[in-house]
Amino acid sequence: MSNLFRYLPSVDEVLSGLIKAEGIEDLPRPLVKDLVNEFLDICREEIRAGAFSEAGQLSAKALSPRLTAYVRSKARPHFRRVLNATGVVIHTNLGRSLLAKPAIEAVTEACAHYSNCEFDLATGKRGSRYSHVERILCDITGAEAALVVNNNAAAVFIMLETLAKGHEVIVSRGQLVEIGGSFRIPDVMAKSGARLREVGATNRTHVHDYENAIGDETAALMRVHTSNFRVVGFTKEVGLAEMRVLGDRYGLPVIEDLGSGTLYSLAGEGLLGEPTVQQVVAQGADVVSFSGDKVLGGPQAGIIVGRKEYIDRIKKNPINRAVRIDKMTLAALEATLRLYLDMDEARRRIPTLNMITSSPEALKSKARRLAEAVREALGDRVEVGMKKGFSRVGGGSFPEYDLPGTMVTVDIRGITAQALRGALLDTDPPLVARIEDDEFLLDPRTLGSSELKLAARALEQAADALTE
Ligand SMILES: *Cc1c(COP(=O)(O)O)cnc(C)c1O
Repeated sequence: MSNLFRYLPSVDEVLSGLIKAEGIEDLPRPLVKDLVNEFLDICREEIRAGAFSEAGQLSAKALSPRLTAYVRSKARPHFRRVLNATGVVIHTNLGRSLLAKPAIEAVTEACAHYSNCEFDLATGKRGSRYSHVERILCDITGAEAALVVNNNAAAVFIMLETLAKGHEVIVSRGQLVEIGGSFRIPDVMAKSGARLREVGATNRTHVHDYENAIGDETAALMRVHTSNFRVVGFTKEVGLAEMRVLGDRYGLPVIEDLGSGTLYSLAGEGLLGEPTVQQVVAQGADVVSFSGDKVLGGPQAGIIVGRKEYIDRIKKNPINRAVRIDKMTLAALEATLRLYLDMDEARRRIPTLNMITSSPEALKSKARRLAEAVREALGDRVEVGMKKGFSRVGGGSFPEYDLPGTMVTVDIRGITAQALRGALLDTDPPLVARIEDDEFLLDPRTLGSSELKLAARALEQAADALTE
């Protein structure tokens, strides 16, 4: 057995053929060489384990298909595109929102060329990076002033640090939420230096709870949108209008962390429960923060709008420099916001809104095309079906609201749903799907029209890999 080692080809021997292979010719040579060494080490392990019986199995030619596949797969960039067939539109693990075409073009332009990022073309002097989006944010939301930071977590932090450090902020116990990924309102507040003054009970908080807690130490009243859960039953929350009255009576700012914060009213789609930013501003919130890449459908950003006196203070906070957004984000955000100047355009062209508001007919037709593509790719190895099911908005918005649609069920002969889902993580591109009641489901809502064939091909690749 041990003399089989002698037949293993040398690195140079396999390298010359390998580097001409498709998908490998453009890779950095040193990387390919390292991967070949790794592969040959694996072969040595296998020889030791008795996986080979004759010299012929170890020739450069015999090893070539496995070696090529190994190098191709290991040399892939770590950050990769995936196909989202989960039906969760704002899927935080899969990158949240997709950008609209004008936003993608704006990003490309912003990073390929110099720009007026912080340059005032009217005066030829230094300008402010916020100037690009402040006006349009005010026009859309009705706020007096606006500011954008890296994400909404940073927005909440800087609002509190600026307006309440060393003082108390009053928050209802029913709104001390954890967003996930270690973002908890009480923790963020502690880090900001503001002191949390909890009032009310988990399910009920009244105006007098807030009023009784107001004292010399109070710097602000805060509301947090309970975006990822819903308290039902015997509940009471104090509305913004009542908070505004309190704020005026005691001269305190009312801060609102809206979480997802939509600019487009989804109430018409039967998705109630999320006020628009415009409504919250109109009802008198002094400072409102929300995400750029949740329902808004833009790049990752934390948007803060509100009264000029408070926004100006936040703008001057030196922490701003540590949480500032980059030029690509600015370009994408402005392009996305411009679509909101016409709400129908926004709904049609912003992928997140478009997917949330897809009509049942459109989803059914997409499901049909997907089912057809899967049948074409897998032939009589597969049983494909269609059935009614539900998608989710995701991103911690509209909890418990199911979006009705049509699912495609896939049953490949001899392969369990679990095994299929696992193998699909290694296809090109990988496909993330759902299993419900042991049934393998593809939700076409979150697949683009041009991705249906890619999804079918991924299923074929996965099936081949599992039956090899
Ligand atoms: C999502 C969310 C955040 C955090 O926003 P990011 O943009 O993810 O940083 C903060 N507060 C609420 C209520 C949220 O839903």
